[in-house]
Amino acid sequence: MLNKTKQFSGKLLLIFFLLFIILPATAQKAKYVFLFIGDGMGLAAAATTQAYLASVNDTSGFQNLSFTSFPAIGLATTHAGNRFITCSAAAGTALATGNKTSINTISMDTKGENKLVTIAEEARDNGFKVGIISSVSIDHATPATFYAHQPDRDMYYEISLDLGKSNFNYFGGGGFYQPFGKNGDATISSYDFAKQNGYTITQTRADFDNLTPASGKVIATGNILESSGALRFMIDQTAEDIPLQDFVKKGIEMLDNKKGFFMMCEEGKIDWAAHSNDGATVIKNVLALDKAVNVALDFYKNHPKETLIIVTADHETGGLAMGWAGTKYESNLKLLQYQDISMEHFSIFIDSLLSSTTNDTTAFTETMAALKTHFGLDDPSKMLQLKTDEKATIETAFYKARERSEKAKADMRSTYSGDNPVAVAAIKMLNNRSGLSWGSFAHTGIPVPVYAIGAGSELFDGYFDNTDIPKNIYKAMKLK
Ligand SMILES: [Zn+2]
Repeated sequence: MLNKTKQFSGKLLLIFFLLFIILPATAQKAKYVFLFIGDGMGLAAAATTQAYLASVNDTSGFQNLSFTSFPAIGLATTHAGNRFITCSAAAGTALATGNKTSINTISMDTKGENKLVTIAEEARDNGFKVGIISSVSIDHATPATFYAHQPDRDMYYEISLDLGKSNFNYFGGGGFYQPFGKNGDATISSYDFAKQNGYTITQTRADFDNLTPASGKVIATGNILESSGALRFMIDQTAEDIPLQDFVKKGIEMLDNKKGFFMMCEEGKIDWAAHSNDGATVIKNVLALDKAVNVALDFYKNHPKETLIIVTADHETGGLAMGWAGTKYESNLKLLQYQDISMEHFSIFIDSLLSSTTNDTTAFTETMAALKTHFGLDDPSKMLQLKTDEKATIETAFYKARERSEKAKADMRSTYSGDNPVAVAAIKMLNNRSGLSWGSFAHTGIPVPVYAIGAGSELFDGYFDNTDIPKNIYKAMKLK
């Protein structure tokens, strides 16, 4: 009996001892938090990128991205308060505040009446530094949901004023979309308003490189921006562009401090490419996100017990499938490597090519040459020789693009999503030949993957709702 009691108390002691050892280790506070959002990056976009990498490297199966090997993996439902298929505003609000709201609403309740506090604001008020990064304009729906409160995502100017007032430490990536308001008649530009509120703004590579924590509050915009205020698609970027990963690197430099930081980084153009059903461009932008996450991982390696990295999406876009009825069980993702330009840029290029000559034969010859250069189409050395029916499809698209009637334009919008029909036909052909197909030009309602590593990452294992993501970040950061 005595022996048994001794044994029992010995066991009890061991249990207490283990609790002391294990509990503090698992309950470590997340002091440095990175939330990466691949806008529109459903599981298919991430997995197709993995398969693409394996294909171009001539290995079988799926090659890991920085985040696909994270220890915690979850699935999150994404529906909005009033619609099954969400938009970036409602989904962003869910990720930023833990609340469902109506479509197009930026961190306000479903009626657009009351503000919802965001995790970034809560972090700021608790002494953390805060950084917001996006590859699209910084006043776009996803980044906006972390610092702004407006009833409509299209209120870009009002959103930009909220940014100026946010007192967040670092904004990086895209610029402002409508710095002088919808009608261009605002008395003060978004940039000047931010300056009045103490922000330093950089727009060149040199100024960006020279930023230090002593620069104070900063808005670092890309040196090359599209008219939308976004960085260029990864596939269109050159060595001149400041890529997304550099904004993360600079962000860490600006935000790193003893009290910790919260950084949200959006790769917003995965969604844009997916809206155009442009597979190669989606892949290149997922790879841009992958590189940005790698920068955070380098930081994590130096602070493994205090860093939490989450990578997720706000919703899926395009209904991408790794498979196509025409190729059945075959995949040839390698073919996507021959595309060297985004749908958007090729559309502009082909528009100007078609309007530069009235001679159909010349225009068609030049079009076919461009398809060979930019997509490898009809190039036998790339295994992309076109069949008769494929040539006919290009020809139909070509004559559709030559039409300028209102009816033709309306047809184009429903069949070709507003892009140039030749660009759409060519990219669809390359996607299909690769064994990819698309179900929609819009978002879909399928749950999205959630990948997590570091302090509190175990909270992201399982099947949950997107509103649980910030709630779990609160727990990990011990904010509530
Ligand atoms: Zn979208």
